[in-house]
Amino acid sequence: MTAETYDAVIVGGGPAGLNAALYLGRSCRRVLVVDSGDARNMAAGVMHNVTTNDGVSIADFRARARMELDAYDVTIRDDEVISAEPDGDRVLTTTKESGTFRSRALIYAAGVRSQLPPLPGLAGLWGTAVFECPYCHGWEVRGSRFGVYGGGVPSECLAATLTVWSDSVTYLCGERELPGDERGRLTAAGVPAVAGKVARVAEHRDGVAVVLEDGRTLTFGALFLHLETEPRVEPLRPWLREKDLESVQTDERGRTSLPRLYVAGDLGRNMQQAAMAAASGGLAAMAVNADLLREDRPGSLPAPPR
Ligand SMILES: Cc1cc2nc3c(=O)[nH]c(=O)nc-3n(C[C@H](O)[C@H](O)[C@H](O)COP(=O)(O)OP(=O)(O)OC[C@H]3O[C@@H](n4cnc5c(N)ncnc54)[C@H](O)[C@@H]3O)c2cc1C
Repeated sequence: MTAETYDAVIVGGGPAGLNAALYLGRSCRRVLVVDSGDARNMAAGVMHNVTTNDGVSIADFRARARMELDAYDVTIRDDEVISAEPDGDRVLTTTKESGTFRSRALIYAAGVRSQLPPLPGLAGLWGTAVFECPYCHGWEVRGSRFGVYGGGVPSECLAATLTVWSDSVTYLCGERELPGDERGRLTAAGVPAVAGKVARVAEHRDGVAVVLEDGRTLTFGALFLHLETEPRVEPLRPWLREKDLESVQTDERGRTSLPRLYVAGDLGRNMQQAAMAAASGGLAAMAVNADLLREDRPGSLPAPPR
């Protein structure tokens, strides 16, 4: 039942996992990447703020990154990991289709899921007219009227930040009574607040229409909102035992307090951006490489700083 042994299995083939694979492949390591193919940013189609790849399609970025890995001892499987757990001095990673794999280390780079509020019409515009990150999308819609939906997660700091990209930013409070500090920051940023429950969001020739329950319709070039995210840790639940990944991560290289488990990408402590995710994948790979060397040649390296 148990298939081949790898130096490292990497869960997730986004910027974090692919860059970790590149570092480890180039470190003469035998690597398996398992990726289920549903990236967090896929709805946007293209990615920005990644130098030499600004505006590149996400599918092309991933395909090129995979091609680069062909030069090394890196296997990629399009599959879903359903469990990963320690087994003595190895990790057993089980996938839906391809069986179970044994490795000396596991880099978990499965990303997070954005949780959209249940506003009718919102999901269909996510990534094209409804956005979260000004750095990812602000340039393309700069100078147009922005709405910021603060009816779910308080988003006044997002609204203030967006005034860098547009002189017209309106805060939609939904049904929420704004606390004084939130209202104070909006006033300081010059952002007017509009009260009233949002009934739905729809496509509009200007970008997006926000229809309030009282019948008013406001139109914007883009609608922004701050979202909660959910870490994609289901396969690790038995290994983590009630803990979350953030609480077991012990250093900036993605080491965790659980032997042989490393974290990279949006799941780690870094800012949730593609270039940062890729960088953290590289750091985790270097940590794995050094820790395997420590195991193979005891005393050759000092213990990692804790
Ligand atoms: C709409 C949107 C637009 C964005 N635009 C930008 C942008 O322009 N620039 C920027 O820098 N950042 C952008 N981001 C943020 C960026 O997408 C993330 O920071 C980045 O993708 C994180 O990389 P990652 O490798 O950690 O995770 P992801 O890119 O999410 O990749 C994780 C991978 O793991 C796989 N996976 C998950 N669970 C399993 C499993 N059990 N088994 C196997 N595989 C699994 C998934 O299928 C996925 O392919 C955007 C985010 C969103 C939501």
